[in-house]
Order: sequence, then C-alpha cells, then structure tokens
Amino acid sequence: MSSSPNALPSYLNPLELGPWATYLEQVDRVLPHLGRLSVWADTLRRPKRALIVDVPIHMDDGTVHHFEGYRVQHNVSRGPGKGGVRYHPGVTLSEVMALAGWMTVKNAAINLPYGGAKGGIRVDPKQLSLSELERLTRRYTSEIGIIIGPERDIPAPDVNTNERVMAWMMDTYSMNVGATSPGVVTGKPLSLGGSLGRRDATGRGCFVVAREAMQRLGMEMKGARVALQGFGNVGNAAARVFHDHGARIVAIQDVAGTIYNPAGIDPHALIKFLAAGQGTLLDFPGIESIDPAKFWEVECEILLPAALENQITVENAGRIRARLVVEGANGPTTPQAEDLLLARGTLILPDVLANAGGVTVSYFEWVQNASSFFWTEADINARLDRALSEAFRAIWDLAQERKLPLRTAAFVIACTRVLEARELRGLYP
Ligand code: NAD
Repeated sequence: MSSSPNALPSYLNPLELGPWATYLEQVDRVLPHLGRLSVWADTLRRPKRALIVDVPIHMDDGTVHHFEGYRVQHNVSRGPGKGGVRYHPGVTLSEVMALAGWMTVKNAAINLPYGGAKGGIRVDPKQLSLSELERLTRRYTSEIGIIIGPERDIPAPDVNTNERVMAWMMDTYSMNVGATSPGVVTGKPLSLGGSLGRRDATGRGCFVVAREAMQRLGMEMKGARVALQGFGNVGNAAARVFHDHGARIVAIQDVAGTIYNPAGIDPHALIKFLAAGQGTLLDFPGIESIDPAKFWEVECEILLPAALENQITVENAGRIRARLVVEGANGPTTPQAEDLLLARGTLILPDVLANAGGVTVSYFEWVQNASSFFWTEADINARLDRALSEAFRAIWDLAQERKLPLRTAAFVIACTRVLEARELRGLYP
C-alpha cells in the first residue's frame, strides 16, 4: 500500500527522505493490519509539529557561528512528547522526523504514557571546545524552550549527548521559567535528579529482549557470540551485560575501526583502556584489527547494531551469519535488507522494542522527579526487566498468532494504541 497523495509534508524534499522513507515504509506495512483505524494513517505520516531553529553562538576565537537545530513532536495523543537530542554533522530534518516517529511507536509499544519526539543539531561536537558545546546547548535549549517542558515534551540523551549536556539543558530551561525543573529532561546526572540505572538502561534492555527471544528459540546465552557495532552509551552497556551473563563479545566496530577476537573481548577491560586515553579500540591488546566491511560476516549468534541508521542494507545483509539481530540503534536495517534477512530465517528484534530500555528508565526518572521520591537500582532494574519482558511477550504472541515479523507485530500493537487515542480525543475544534 502506498502513502496517500497528501501524506508527504511539502517541506521535505521527496528525493532526500533518508530514514523518513524507511519509517514511512514501515507504516505502510502495518496499515493492512489496523482495521478501521487505518483511516487515521496520516496521523502517523505527518509529524504534529516540526521546529527548525537557528543556533548562533560565539566561538572561542571571537567569531559567531550559526548552527541548525531541530525539535520534532511527531505525536502527542497519548502524552507529552519524549525522545533524545542528537549532535551529529549528518543530522537533517527528515532524520529527526524519522527518529521522532519511531519514538511514538516505541513509547506506545511499551505502553509508556508518552507521545514521540526527537531533536538534534547539525554539528560535529568533536570540533567544539567544552565552553562552545555549553553555549550551543544552552542557546538550543532556549530556542526550543517554547515547545518543551515536563508536561509538554521531555528531551533525553542520544548520539553524542550525555548527562552533562542534559544538566545544561535542565539548568537553562529552569533559569528561563524561574523554577528548578528537573522533569524537563531525563538522563540527568544523579545529583540533579537523574535515576539510578539510566546510564545502562538501553544496553540492559537489549539483553532482556535477546534473552526472551533466545529462550523461545532454544538458544543458550552462555557462550553465545556477539558482534557489536557502536561502543557508545548503548553499545558499551550492552557489551557488559551480555558479557556478564556468559555471552562472548567477538567483534566490535566503532568510528575508529573494527576489532575481532574469537576467544572473546572483555568489555570491562576495553572501557578501562579507552578511558585511560591509551589509544582507540584498534590499540587494545590481544585483538585482531579487521577490514570494517568484514564486520558483517563475522561468525556469531547475535548481531547488535548500536551506532546509526541504515547500516544493514541489501549490500551486506546477505553476508550476515547471526541467528538474531538485536537493534540497539534506531533504524539500523533498511526494509529491503529486513526482507532478505527474514527470508533466510534471521530473527530481528526491532528497535522499537530492543532499545526501549532507555526511554523506559527515562520514564521512571520522570516519575521519580514528579514525586521527589527515589527508587533503588535493584527496583529500577527489576521494573525495567518486567516492562520489557511483558512487551516482548505481547509482541511475540501476536507475531506467532498472525504470522507477522516482530517489527510489524510491534507496530500493530503500538499504532493501535496511538490511533485509538487519536480517535477518542477527536479533532479540535
Ligand atoms: P553514542 O554517541 O554514545 O555512541 C555511538 C557509537 O557509534 C560510538 O561508539 C561511535 O564510534 C559509533 N559509530 C558512529 N558512527 C559509526 C559508523 N559509521 N560506523 C561504526 N560505528 C559508528 O550514541 P548512543 O547513545 O550509544 O546511540 C547509538 C544508537 O542507539 C543511536 O541509533 C541512538 O539513536 C540509539 N539509541 C540510544 C539510546 C540512548 O539511551 N542513548 C536509546 C535508544 C536508542
């Protein structure tokens, strides 16, 4: 089924849709399964609100530089917008729209009381000094301050943003409204109302859903080989949790290159090595450095992309050996590559489920901020495990019952919730 003629907002160049094209195709694939609710399909195809902001800052050398920033609220039918902020030179409006759309689906798939949103700045943060980064973050926060807030839209970390960036965002918003407002962002440092367990939550969630899938497939976690793309917030936490439960990390790829050791790479030792500033992962002792293109054909049971979109394509999907692809990243698999993998019997745990651990603990953080009452880490991890296992079970059962790929099943559950809310709220005025 193709998009309706008016589905593409006129502000997008149809030739440069990027990940938004992937998102639209995923929406098209779910519509035949939504019954009468599919009349509301354009709700999913058009973001509610897309804000483009100019972010001028003084550089350290006295010049003024203008950056382009975005905040997209894709849908707020079920609650405030929620989604991360990305700093990357490749950020575009259509990418942020896709990431916001996936947040709508993810939050509904886990049944969190949120809509979906995402933000970003087109910048290479590695080219900025710390004070330039702070000025950039503060000006961006002020610019999007007209649409964010604890009950309106709650940003969080994404690629190249972290707890420190969230602290600046929280402070800037608080200064502008004249009251300390911890609930405006999540992923904050603990001393500013951040939550225990948030830092590792996305990686831990990848493990939880992989464990559930492996139990159903009769696969052993002990000794299972994992190939991991991306060793940032998501990738390094996932590597530790899988390793600590007996899996073996055999390959890791990041921007510096690709390392391989069939006997297993100890992620704890690698993190220590990188933190000590002794070099990139290619300098880590005891590994073999391999051609990045060969990463995809590494012998493994689990492939865990945790970097960027559009990494698994028709060019490399045919070489993938894994039985299970766990999408730690958002949108790492193109629809055509997904078809190819499914035809070969590979199980794909879709991003909207596999990386939902981060937003789930962000939700816990927001609840703790609203009540000013803080939970233990054990409690948070147990609640996270329960929320994701439960979401996995519902998606798995629907997929079995209707013979659907897991992504389509997740979209059916999520889009039904979103469009039911849309219909019940009705159109205003
Ligand atoms: P990060 O900035 O902490 O880490 C990104 C990692 O990817 C780095 O190791 C980097 O070297 C690597 N990388 C970047 N480009 C690459 C390339 N072309 N090839 C190989 N490696 C590359 O980012 P993150 O927060 O870990 O996010 C990673 C992915 O997970 C993104 O898709 C993000 O949207 C998604 N995600 C993040 C969270 C979160 O809580 N941070 C939650 C859900 C989903």
